[in-house]
Amino acid sequence: MSLSLANPKFRVAICGAGIGGLALAVTLGKFADQDIHIDLYEAHDTITTTGAGITIPSRTSEVLKELGMYEEISRVSTKPPSFSHVPKFRRSNISQGGFEWFQQILTLMSSNMHRQHLMDTLKQYLPSSCSLHFNKRLTRYDKQLSGSLILHFADDSTSTTDVLIGADGVHSSVRKTIFETLDRDVVDPSKIRHYTDPSWTGTLVYRTVFPAKKLSDLDPNNVALKDFVIFCGMGKHVVSYPVSQGTLINVVAFVTDGEKAGTPFEGCWVSSVSHEEVQEPYQDFEPAVKNLLKCSENPSRWALHVVNELPLFASDRVALMGDACHAMTPYFGAGAGQAIEDAFVLGRLLSHPLTTLDSVPAALKAYQDVRLPFSQFVARESARTGRMYDFDMSSTANVQEELEIQKEKILAQWEWEGKDSPITEWLEAERKLQDSIGVRDDCAR
Ligand SMILES: Cc1cc2nc3c(=O)[nH]c(=O)nc-3n(C[C@H](O)[C@H](O)[C@H](O)COP(=O)(O)OP(=O)(O)OC[C@H]3O[C@@H](n4cnc5c(N)ncnc54)[C@H](O)[C@@H]3O)c2cc1C
Repeated sequence: MSLSLANPKFRVAICGAGIGGLALAVTLGKFADQDIHIDLYEAHDTITTTGAGITIPSRTSEVLKELGMYEEISRVSTKPPSFSHVPKFRRSNISQGGFEWFQQILTLMSSNMHRQHLMDTLKQYLPSSCSLHFNKRLTRYDKQLSGSLILHFADDSTSTTDVLIGADGVHSSVRKTIFETLDRDVVDPSKIRHYTDPSWTGTLVYRTVFPAKKLSDLDPNNVALKDFVIFCGMGKHVVSYPVSQGTLINVVAFVTDGEKAGTPFEGCWVSSVSHEEVQEPYQDFEPAVKNLLKCSENPSRWALHVVNELPLFASDRVALMGDACHAMTPYFGAGAGQAIEDAFVLGRLLSHPLTTLDSVPAALKAYQDVRLPFSQFVARESARTGRMYDFDMSSTANVQEELEIQKEKILAQWEWEGKDSPITEWLEAERKLQDSIGVRDDCAR
């Protein structure tokens, strides 16, 4: 897909065609009305994704509605009434049989879907103003005196752009270049590696997806067949929910050694593992979990890395979005949603009639001012929530009382989903852009 626009306002290069990069191209296509030429550079030879199920929080659905793709997404997602989405928390580290701890009554409904379906839908909505370039792994960029940017790729080719957006995930080359080339009075040199290098959380994540029939044949009454379940235990928990209209079960199992957080992870970050390795940590868990894990197909193990809190998301005509600037723990199922929300705010700002090549830095600053605090808040609270799911309940004198306290804390953690909305954030960012350019009508203040 490639179209040369006669007189684009400017050229935007998006590095990375993951959920975030695609959502940005779609937003620019919808709101820039062919004013912006988009080059989307992807390291792989196709638009693809690893992993299976994905949760889209209800606040992110507002963005999908604005982008006109909500109906399409709804068709491939699973949500009430097709299965009870109310997450059921179980105390599961009791080998003879756990029990339901509590149900989380949600006032805001998220949707669950297969990750590939989300990617395929975003791909369908890519605008004709977007040129896709595969096998283009960005290694670094240089700034020219004119302000434009030279992109360098692993195949030794180069390209030029006016604006660069790093949507290149947790290992982001754009993030690395930003922090390695920032003035030393902006960033403390001793902290550069802290910002450029991903950090291991001490958690290993086992992921698998398999036909629901396999589990119903083995254990017809398994709670995971119909429900969204979080099986909790000490230092580990398992999340399971049906996807693809209930025909598949998505399982994500976490094992955490808190003392290893922040230490280097030795070995491959993502690898295929044996069925035995997936089952081994959960020997002290209830039979429902053991049966669930027995059904694993092609299980993989991920060493869970995050991006440390960054002091900035934008510098001059370069910005970061999605996992490139806030890769977070997945306990809220919010990483992709936050990437989509970044894309929406950033895309609308770049498409704004006030944004010209000269005012791009002001637009990127408005994006940063709105999105940095919120996405970092979600990342911090997500990590805290994961620690609550791994609570050592068996060590307390009064287990019932402790469970009750912990339940209330977990419920409070989820209130973030109702905080503001990405649409409000976009309006706030627009006000900031207007203020910085000095065009805001005093009556509107
Ligand atoms: C176990 C687990 C479960 C999760 N579950 C959920 C969930 O339920 N809900 C949710 O919202 N989030 C979830 N997440 C998080 C979510 O997957 C990420 O936050 C999301 O995929 C981020 O999207 P992104 O586009 O920013 O980055 P990515 O998805 O990482 O995409 C980056 C893209 O950039 C490309 N790329 C990388 N480097 C370069 C380069 N140098 N040059 C060019 N291209 C490059 C990559 O090939 C890729 O296509 C989960 C994460 C994990 C680990």
